[in-house]
Amino acid sequence: MTGKPTILVVDDEISNIEILGAILDKDYEVCFALSGAQALEVAGHVRPDLILLDIVMPGLDGYQTCLLLKESPGLSDLPVIFTTALDASESEVRGLSLGAVDYVTKPFQPVVLRQRIGNHIRLKQQRDQLASLAMTDPLTGLANRRGLESRLQAELDRLARTDGKLSVIMLDIDCFKTFNDSHGHPAGDRCLKMVGRALEGAVQRAGDLCARYGGEEFACILPGVGHGGAMHLGETIRAGIEALAIPHASSAAGAVVTASLGVASGNCASRLPAEEWILAADRMLYRSKHLGRNRVTGQHLGGSATCLPQAWPQPMQSQAML
Ligand code: GH3
Ligand code: MG
Ligand code: MG
Repeated sequence: MTGKPTILVVDDEISNIEILGAILDKDYEVCFALSGAQALEVAGHVRPDLILLDIVMPGLDGYQTCLLLKESPGLSDLPVIFTTALDASESEVRGLSLGAVDYVTKPFQPVVLRQRIGNHIRLKQQRDQLASLAMTDPLTGLANRRGLESRLQAELDRLARTDGKLSVIMLDIDCFKTFNDSHGHPAGDRCLKMVGRALEGAVQRAGDLCARYGGEEFACILPGVGHGGAMHLGETIRAGIEALAIPHASSAAGAVVTASLGVASGNCASRLPAEEWILAADRMLYRSKHLGRNRVTGQHLGGSATCLPQAWPQPMQSQAML
């Protein structure tokens, strides 16, 4: 990793690729494709910051390639600059109307081209930063509700194709209103940060996501994790928060800060909508609250509820919930 922005140059003429490579490779990571089809494939793997796209190519031409890019989820936001020997204004208008951010004609003027590309790369970086901020909770640095919902939908779509397993954990700090009342709002904020860090510390697999869902509620998405694994992880999280040993002067659940958790697990081929997964985990969370807080209750969707730690009378642990 060099940290340089990446530019994908698409041109069927090797000589053009060499010229552009020489102009750009000091400031950018440059990769190449010799056809529209190859460009789509490389763009999917590399996710460049900008695409320089020739118009006249055999097979898919630049316009068709641009259209396909704009229709591809995950690639539609990539800025495209057309590079072409066609300098008729109709060609330029057509290119821009397809969603290209700019249009440059051959032969290239290196200084002007570098300047234009620099401007577009900066705009793209600012857009990416804003998009990332819009998905991040400023207090804890975790994903926010929007980030969680967007990721949950993406994982459900991906896992539905293979009937993959998924689990959602919802977590709510116990008696947090009285924590603020007793210890003050700034201490409440510090507590939220510590709980966020404990959550991140417990949920370490690449592909898992932790989020602050809102207020004193947190959530995790665990792709590929079944009911048993998610209940085990839920219990690890619960115990980890208790072990922070943050004194709580007025909790109904104990002398330190604790949390109640709800777990929903299932297979994604059921095509259950994202909000239903959240609702199911939330129902389990409120069951944990009603059972006395500081515990984990979960359900394999379509099955019965179980509660940890297992200190409760049998009928409560195995009551069917949905
Ligand atoms: P329960 O155990 O039933 O969950 O009770 P609770 O007191 O935790 O729940 P309730 O929903 O009554 O109160 C949530 C509290 O969380 C109230 C609100 O002031 C506090 N809160 C929400 N967001 C923040 C925040 O960003 N900082 C701080 N310090 N407190 C927050
Ligand atoms: Mg709450
Ligand atoms: Mg609460």
